[in-house]
Amino acid sequence: MSLVVVGSMAFDAIETPFGKTDKIIGGAATYIAWCASNFTQPVKQISVVGGDFPQAELDALTARGVALEGVQIKKDEKSFFWSGKYHMDMNTRDTLVTELNVLGTFDPKVPDSYQDCEFLMLGNLAPAVQLSVIDQLKNKPKLIVMDTMNFWMEVALDDLKAVIAKVDVLLVNDSEARELSGEFSLVRAAQKIMTMGPKYLIIKKGEHGALLFHENSVFFAPALPLEEVFDPTGAGDTFAGGFIGHLARTKDISFKNMKTAIIVGSAMASFCVEKFGTERLREISKADIDARLNEFVQLVNFDIDLV
Ligand code: AMP
Repeated sequence: MSLVVVGSMAFDAIETPFGKTDKIIGGAATYIAWCASNFTQPVKQISVVGGDFPQAELDALTARGVALEGVQIKKDEKSFFWSGKYHMDMNTRDTLVTELNVLGTFDPKVPDSYQDCEFLMLGNLAPAVQLSVIDQLKNKPKLIVMDTMNFWMEVALDDLKAVIAKVDVLLVNDSEARELSGEFSLVRAAQKIMTMGPKYLIIKKGEHGALLFHENSVFFAPALPLEEVFDPTGAGDTFAGGFIGHLARTKDISFKNMKTAIIVGSAMASFCVEKFGTERLREISKADIDARLNEFVQLVNFDIDLV
C-alpha cells in the first residue's frame, strides 16, 4: 500500500526581496516528494522531465525513497520552466514566465507497481492529467487529495470541476477559493466548494495559516511566525506533502487526524520558506521536525476557565 504523487517537476527562477536565483530545481511534485518522504516511503512519483533535468537530482530523490518509475524522461525536450517574483508582501507573487515544455503534452502512465495506491496526492498540474491518473487506477484509493491553482481556473475550468468532483480533499488558497466559488466569505465559499465534490476543503492563507472545513466544522492551523521568510515558493506543495505524508503514515483519515495533518503541513511549510527552493527540505532531520511540531503545540496551547 502506498502513496502516489503526481505533479510538476521543474526548473524555477525566483526573485524575492532577499535574493534571486537562476534556474533551480522546483515543481509541485518535487516539493511534495521531498516533504512526504519524511513520513512514508516509498513515495511513488508520476511526472515528466526533459533531457536537461539533472540525473543527480533524480538520484537524490531515489536515495530519499522516492520511486521514479512513473517519471517520464523526454531526452530531446526541455523541462517545465516557471519564474516568479515576490514583493515585500510575500503572500502574493507575480508569475513572470510559464513555459510548459514537456508538461504541455504530458500523457501520464501509471506503472503496474503503483496500482497498490492507497493515498493519491494530485499535485498542481493540468486537471486533465490529474483526471487521467485517477482513471488509470484500478482500485479507488482510500483518500484522494488535490491541489490546484488559479491558472487552471482560467484555462481549464471544466476539466478542473470534473477532477474536483472525484476527490476527497481539495487544497486551495483564499483567493482561489473566492474565484472558484464566486463568494467573498470563506465560510460561504467552503460550503459551496464542498457541494462540488470534496468532503473536506483546506483553504491556505499563507502566513496567516490554514483552515480545514468538513460539513459544519472548521479547524484552524496557524503558520509559525518566523523571523525571516526567505522564499515562499513551494510552501503550498510542502504543506500538501506534510498533510498527506502524515495521513499515509498513520493510515487514519478521520477529521480528527486531518486536524493533526494540517499542523504537520504547516510545520513542514515553515521549513520550506527558510531557504531558496527545496534546499531547506533536503537538510532537515526527524529531530528538527519533532522540535518544530513542538513549537506549534506551544503556539496554540492555552487554558481557559469558563465561568
Ligand atoms: P507553490 O509555491 O506551492 O504554489 O508551488 C510552486 C511550484 O509550482 C514551483 O516550483 C513551480 O515550478 C510550480 N508551478 C508553477 N506554476 C505551475 C503550473 N501552471 N503547473 C504546474 N506547476 C506549476
